[in-house]
Amino acid sequence: MNTPSLLILAGDGIGPEVMGEVKRIITWYGEKRDMTFDVSEDLIGGVAYDTHGTPLTDETMAKAQEVDAVLLGAVGGPAYDDLDFSVKPERGLLRLRKEMDLFSNLRPAQCFDALADFSSLKQDIVAGLDIMIVRELTSGSYFGEPRGIFDLPNGEREGINTQRYTTREIRRVARSAFELARKRSNKVCSMEKANVMESGILWREEVTWVHENEYPDVELSHMYADNGAMQLVRWPKQFDVIVTDNLFGDILSDCAAMLTGSLGMLPSASLGVPMENGRPKAMYEPVHGSAPDITGQGKANPIACILSFAMALRYSFNDGAEADRLEAAVEKVLADGARTADLLGPEGGSPISTTEMGDAILAALDASL
Ligand code: NAD
Repeated sequence: MNTPSLLILAGDGIGPEVMGEVKRIITWYGEKRDMTFDVSEDLIGGVAYDTHGTPLTDETMAKAQEVDAVLLGAVGGPAYDDLDFSVKPERGLLRLRKEMDLFSNLRPAQCFDALADFSSLKQDIVAGLDIMIVRELTSGSYFGEPRGIFDLPNGEREGINTQRYTTREIRRVARSAFELARKRSNKVCSMEKANVMESGILWREEVTWVHENEYPDVELSHMYADNGAMQLVRWPKQFDVIVTDNLFGDILSDCAAMLTGSLGMLPSASLGVPMENGRPKAMYEPVHGSAPDITGQGKANPIACILSFAMALRYSFNDGAEADRLEAAVEKVLADGARTADLLGPEGGSPISTTEMGDAILAALDASL
């Protein structure tokens, strides 16, 4: 196979700072593991708007379609808050997701032992937690038509969004959840509101169809999404893979992610259909935003972005062993007590900088050889 290609879109705010540490790790893999990537970089978000008058140029979009994986930092910031909706930094991100058809959004919620105290839940509820939420990302009520705000004859206004799913859309995200489960603890819980929504009934029927016909070896359960939210904070370790729609997934994945502590720790992957070389269309990005309040101060935690690269190793480059190595290096530095400012509890302590966290992870990678 050719040298795998990566497009880095560092974006705005702390995006370039955290991505700087990922670039050092990519270099480490080239030098120490003989894993070379063909890396190119481009602009997205506010910085692309400043340079080109658009948050994502057609050229960058075309490049994203060609590479094996896109690594994204973060977009947005107060300087762009008043821009027209059509050129806001977030539009660049949404365009990437939509045009690359990244329908399966993987959001792991994993609690590193060293940070179990950090959760708002009791330690025994979150210690060792390792679940994966698979959220449908390109359909449902965020995209369904009709949508809009309309004037009614009686002088009132009406806001409409449409929750709409097709067989194909449900089956393909269900398959992605079952595939993942096979590589984990072989359990999928599907969440919807089949008790009150027709789209939920269809969701349940189609997930069941995929299960019975293609993945009978995986354990499948169904849960109403509101109960799912309760169960996530009551006893999250009952779950392995959760699959759900765009709207419920937005809420449930944020809820699950925060079980584990800081926003600076949370990676994500968005996957689409396989390309000719068998790799899925893919974009990897930290869950956090551009953090304007700490930009340029060396305070950003690079771990979410680094763990997103670990997901790229696992899901795009099929190298679970190297992904494990990188995740273990992160776990080791945390166990050794390395903390960026966001990882210090109320009792305080002395934080290390973004670059020092990168140094520590590189040293742990060296030690793993
Ligand atoms: P945010 O995630 O940028 O920040 C929320 C809080 O978490 C801030 O206090 C920030 O300092 C802290 N934080 C975030 N990431 C951190 C990290 N890696 N290390 C340490 N602390 C970290 O969310 P926000 O403040 O609501 O949004 C800021 C901007 O980012 C907005 O313009 C928003 O639209 C944009 N945004 C972009 C994305 C994205 O690019 N995917 C996601 C969310 C928000």
